[in-house]
Amino acid sequence: MESTKRRNQGTTSTAWESRPSVTESSIITRLFEGHLSYYIMCLECQTTTYKNEIFTVLSLPIPYETECSLEDCLECFFQQDMLTWNNQITCSCCGTKQDAAVKASIAKAPKIVIFHLKRFDCQGSYKKKLKTDIYYPLNNLDLSPYIYPLFRKNPKYSLFAVVNHFGDLDGGHYTAFCKHTVSQSWYNFDDSQISEIPESALQTPAAYLLFYSNQSFSVPVKN
Ligand SMILES: [Zn+2]
Repeated sequence: MESTKRRNQGTTSTAWESRPSVTESSIITRLFEGHLSYYIMCLECQTTTYKNEIFTVLSLPIPYETECSLEDCLECFFQQDMLTWNNQITCSCCGTKQDAAVKASIAKAPKIVIFHLKRFDCQGSYKKKLKTDIYYPLNNLDLSPYIYPLFRKNPKYSLFAVVNHFGDLDGGHYTAFCKHTVSQSWYNFDDSQISEIPESALQTPAAYLLFYSNQSFSVPVKN
């Protein structure tokens, strides 16, 4: 049950609570907005229901202490989970609160997907920053195992930015790695210091937010 516990680390609400639908369209919604669909089954009567949720960031649990891959984090997020105790559902068929099984899938994948790595592990008075080395691919991140088959149009994603956090829960410092869309070179942004870095420097245990795109950026055409 370790992975289930880790999946819910740091959360104060159930994973499947819906946010209201956002109907307006903007550059933010067109680039970053995706849809998650949760399949929920009452363990008493086996009635199934679906809940949809809009997301702009996926907060991924970190299943291991020392090292793991981004795919391990994704497996942990999308695995079937149990809703018990305070997270029980009110089953429309039973008419009472019941334990349930829940599993998430991506119903609409965004053009740019942001992964938030849940390094700040807070459970009651237990607080800790996880310094797990998480290996993430620079290209060809395949999200198709987590996307409904009907919606697997462009499931391959490439990394184009990383936000790093150095320090612990009480204080720290943020930096960013960004890929230049024209030169394809990587740069480190550290306050007023900007320097070019090799791809080999992109993998660090400080990685906190990962930005992936399923569209290749192109050189703007001058009129
Ligand atoms: Zn039921």
